[in-house]
Amino acid sequence: MDFTETDEQRALRAAVADLGGRYGHGYYASQARGGGRLNELWQEAGKLGFIGVNLPERYGGGGAGLYELAIVLEELAAAGCGLLMMVVSPAICGTIIARFGTDEQKQNWLPKIASGSSIMAFGITEPDAGSNSHRLTTTAARDGDTWVLNGRKIYISGVDQAEAVLIVGRTADAKTGKLRPALFAVPTGTPGFSYRPIDMDIVMPEKQFLLFLDDVRLPADALIGDEGAALLQLFAGLNPERVMAAAMAVGSGRFALDKAISYARERTVWDVPIGAHQGLAHPLAQVKIELELARLMMQKAATLYDQGDDVAAGEAANMAKYAAAEASIRTVDQAIQALGGSAMTQEFGLASMLANVRTTRIAPVSREMILNYVAQHSLGLPKSY
Ligand SMILES: Cc1cc2nc3c(=O)[nH]c(=O)nc-3n(C[C@H](O)[C@H](O)[C@H](O)COP(=O)(O)OP(=O)(O)OC[C@H]3O[C@@H](n4cnc5c(N)ncnc54)[C@H](O)[C@@H]3O)c2cc1C
Repeated sequence: MDFTETDEQRALRAAVADLGGRYGHGYYASQARGGGRLNELWQEAGKLGFIGVNLPERYGGGGAGLYELAIVLEELAAAGCGLLMMVVSPAICGTIIARFGTDEQKQNWLPKIASGSSIMAFGITEPDAGSNSHRLTTTAARDGDTWVLNGRKIYISGVDQAEAVLIVGRTADAKTGKLRPALFAVPTGTPGFSYRPIDMDIVMPEKQFLLFLDDVRLPADALIGDEGAALLQLFAGLNPERVMAAAMAVGSGRFALDKAISYARERTVWDVPIGAHQGLAHPLAQVKIELELARLMMQKAATLYDQGDDVAAGEAANMAKYAAAEASIRTVDQAIQALGGSAMTQEFGLASMLANVRTTRIAPVSREMILNYVAQHSLGLPKSY
């Protein structure tokens, strides 16, 4: 076990922090409030090799791992400009295609996902299924050499920026008729595929969409990976998703804590800076500890994943997402307390950040579903739902 990052990892961290520092939270918030996107930052990060750092070199990626991808997102979020679509495009979609796609699918998708010139969104959530993925009703039926997809998806991020959406559907087993999950790359321009933005109440440049799939006809090679092993393939992509959600939360927590510390060092309303009062210093020390613990679990999950241990990585990734969500919510809340009224101004960006980190207790997987997982798989308790 080695808790010291390599020279390459430290150099990556520094280079990403430098890029993030040139954009910052002002850029993020003004794009979000003005209905804009983070295109310039996304493209620059792509050019510098940050977006596809985890993808194979053979297909235009950096040849590193999930650990390095998490460094990129953590540092951008710590600079106040986390790129949500990194959780989806290189982490879920890129990973699944790199691990399970055919060579042709890899050639087709990975270089552009890695360079950032194309974004692939990810759609699993459905209006009537929510946390219960066994209830998915988006179905894919074979029709000669093609697939025909029908269904609805909800809260799908970044569809307006995406060239395609990796859709989790279900196919009927030819023998038993039982429905099994299957993954399809669906270009957003395909006839029968349409989407509508959802009016969200959060300040985030990435928009969420309701998707309609009405007789969407796709070629045979739109099916990613093996029809019979889609569940395994899905989890191979969802573990990186959870690690990346943790990275974004930890980075956001660091951003908020930095703001709180510099404010508490300077702001003086009695005879000493407010940071000298233990009533303020101790809760900040506490959230620092909680953030570090969450980060450690995130790094463990990423390391296990990069070592190829999907099962152990699954447990750690769930725990990391849980811990990072809780730590970042408490950190941003405490940072707000440290800044008093100033926290509620746009200058500091903390009030809107609270809603954003609060989202990580719900998405991509809710706190309760992680507790269900840990109760069942780590503790061996009976399944409760
Ligand atoms: C900003 C944002 C971006 C998103 N982006 C994407 C995306 O890109 N792609 C995508 O596919 N999805 C996306 N989602 C959807 C997200 O993954 C879901 O919102 C999340 O999985 C929870 O599902 P739900 O909202 O249907 O809640 P529900 O499943 O309806 O759950 C509601 C509440 O009930 C609790 N609950 C449900 N079942 C149980 C149980 N058995 N035991 C205990 N408690 C339970 C949940 O924990 C939750 O607190 C996004 C959501 C948001 C808010």
